Amino acid sequence: MALLEIKDLTVRFYTQEGVVTAVDNLSYQIKRGEKFGVVGESGAGKSVTALSLMRLIDSPGRIESGEILFKGQNILDMTEKEVRSLRGNEISMIFQDAQTALNPVYTVGEQISEAMRHHLGYSNEEARERSIQLLDQVGIPEAETRYSDYPHEFSGGMQQRAVIAMALSCDPDLLLCDEPTTALDVTIETQILDLIEELADEFDTAVQLITHDLGVVADICDRVMVMYAGKPVEKAPVEELYYDPKHPYTVGLMSSIPRVGDTRDRLQTIPGTMPDLVELPPGCSFHPRCPFAEDACTTTEPALIDIESSDEATVDSSRAAACLEYTDQLQNGLDYEVRVVDENTGSEMNPTQTGGSQNV
Ligand code: SF4
Repeated sequence: MALLEIKDLTVRFYTQEGVVTAVDNLSYQIKRGEKFGVVGESGAGKSVTALSLMRLIDSPGRIESGEILFKGQNILDMTEKEVRSLRGNEISMIFQDAQTALNPVYTVGEQISEAMRHHLGYSNEEARERSIQLLDQVGIPEAETRYSDYPHEFSGGMQQRAVIAMALSCDPDLLLCDEPTTALDVTIETQILDLIEELADEFDTAVQLITHDLGVVADICDRVMVMYAGKPVEKAPVEELYYDPKHPYTVGLMSSIPRVGDTRDRLQTIPGTMPDLVELPPGCSFHPRCPFAEDACTTTEPALIDIESSDEATVDSSRAAACLEYTDQLQNGLDYEVRVVDENTGSEMNPTQTGGSQNV
């Protein structure tokens, strides 16, 4: 049984401008100990999905339908008390801004201890000891002394380390990381990502990593789901996604990753922006930005198709993409070329795909 299985989840926000479908009929699963990346631009529905798992969608938002099965139990059917005992205990979340996750009037150590006293019934002394151990494990020097520091006495990177210690304090089975390094500079970003990966392995914790950056996913994740306008457009094991992306949006995201030794004057970007979720374009919602769009794309919504079987994808599908190419409804097909180049030698590692002109 999967640790987490999302089935046909739909989340809407009832705003003055109209009804926003932030997550539309979304299904996926995460296995125990697996690191799963969710990628897309702002407005793709990544964070709303994570908040739904914790049942933290507030008015005017509403989880309209679907199931969120955690260890086989539907979180949407649980009482508020049951959900509270799950949050911070079996499922923890790391937000992008550590500063807002920490309470400025309590010491860092107190905040880490609190969850263990509450969820695990630790005494004050036990919780203090374990918190100091965790601070040490996440790389805070002089952990015993720093236990009594207030959040403002920590740098941004140290605050995020403290938040990770807090998230792992109750040994959760699932860690939701929502853009955990966005507020940090690049060198600290690498350290924090390494730390999340290392601790997730050590604690045997599954990770759902939400990011707009495919480069971050490559470092950590086993599998990836790319989202666009509230829907999954591609799912794949991480290496397959990089060597052989199947959806034009994924190709666009990959073209815009900066690389060491890049000789391009400008990074390629995906033209346009995420559509207004109140009024999505008809047909494939990516069509106004897609270089391969044809007439059929403006009228027919592509289903998520299992690439191997050519049938509609299920949660078990290892490779899936939502493009009319996979239901033979495109006349010209997709025409791009993927070149993966070794940063050190400059040589091509594993060219794939059909002929064309777009280097990714
Ligand atoms: S269905 Fe059409 S518009 Fe959508 S991704 Fe495929 S080619 Fe592009």
